[in-house]
This record gives sequence, structure tokens and C-alpha cells, in this order.
Amino acid sequence: MCDRCERLDEKIGHYKKVISAMTDQLTIERISALVLEMQTQKASLHPERPGGPAR
Ligand SMILES: [Zn+2]
Repeated sequence: MCDRCERLDEKIGHYKKVISAMTDQLTIERISALVLEMQTQKASLHPERPGGPAR
């Protein structure tokens, strides 16, 4: 874990809380897309290598 993914994790956690308080389906979908984008960003910070040593 580095600074950048910690910040992304914070945002993801925040948005997930926002989503759980939302009732508007369209807003939920938009925020979900944002969360997905952030998760993708996080994954690209630490690319997982299949078969590689776990770190
Ligand atoms: Zn990191």
C-alpha cells in the first residue's frame, strides 16, 4: 500500500457510504461507475502478475 492507493481507498469507502444512503438509481449508477474507475486506477498502480510472487 502506498499513499496513492490509500487515498483512492478512502475515496472508494466514502463513495460506497454515499451509495448506501442513495435512493436514486441513476445517481447510484454514476457513483458506482466512479468507484469502478478508482478501483481500476488502484489496480493499475499495483499490477497483479499471474503466477508471480505475492507481495
Ligand atoms: Zn499502493
